[in-house]
Amino acid sequence: MHDAHIHLAMEPLKSNLAKIIDTFLEKGGKYILTQSTDLEDIDTSLEIGEPYPNIVGVALGLHPTFFEENTIEKGNSNNVYEESKKLLNKFVSILETNLPRITAIGETGLDYYQIGLQKDLSPKLKGEIKDIQKESFRRHVQIAVENNLPLSIHARDINGSNECVEDVIRIVAEEGKCLARGCFHSYTGDIKYLQPILDLGFCVGFNAIITYKSGEDVRVILKKTPLDRIIFETDGPFLPPQSIRKNKKIKNKFAQPGDIKEIIEVAAEVKNISPEELEKEADKNYERVFLK
Ligand SMILES: [Zn+2]
Repeated sequence: MHDAHIHLAMEPLKSNLAKIIDTFLEKGGKYILTQSTDLEDIDTSLEIGEPYPNIVGVALGLHPTFFEENTIEKGNSNNVYEESKKLLNKFVSILETNLPRITAIGETGLDYYQIGLQKDLSPKLKGEIKDIQKESFRRHVQIAVENNLPLSIHARDINGSNECVEDVIRIVAEEGKCLARGCFHSYTGDIKYLQPILDLGFCVGFNAIITYKSGEDVRVILKKTPLDRIIFETDGPFLPPQSIRKNKKIKNKFAQPGDIKEIIEVAAEVKNISPEELEKEADKNYERVFLK
């Protein structure tokens, strides 16, 4: 079993790394793909992978919400596009020097959910944020294709809208030129976009959301996703599985790579096959997409 999307540079994962990796290996785990999200966690992500060259792969990317977090949310609403562009250029040059050390590009994509929550944001600022997110995502896809690297893609719409996933699919189609490969991580959007995602040749990443009572829509997506396109991930430290969420004795609740076991068990029920068979299929998918 493999964990295709986690943030090992985040706490409490970072401080408990050796223990977390031991637990994962004890449960039969093999590969972990850790994802960066901003300019600060690049070095930590690369360093985390070093002692575990045969277990931990590193993906570098700028999470789409990075731009609003580093402009508007820091009180700077002037020249949001230009300021963000400088940050993007800085990221691209760091990424390009580190290409030999990474196995994937991510996390990247578009997120219209977080800006959608900010009701007092002017249409002009929203437009600037969307523009820089799209530009950043285009750059990530281009670099992935140029260097034959897989992508880990985030796409999150504001409830009731499909603008974000439509933009993501269009950008992958335009920039990917049929060569882009990777995974739509934690896809929680409208099921009608599952087929277009599969048509791009991408896999879909499922995490502990499928273990939650509220995860019915995602379980339906999982049911409809062919076995040769399913990949598992924890998105740790976020999204602890249901057994941890409901355990009142555990104070610090977080997801770790060993939780893939529980995710696969629940997914196997949804797919109506044995966990062993599902694990084997998902492993093959991960290895085809994410191993060099
Ligand atoms: Zn993530």
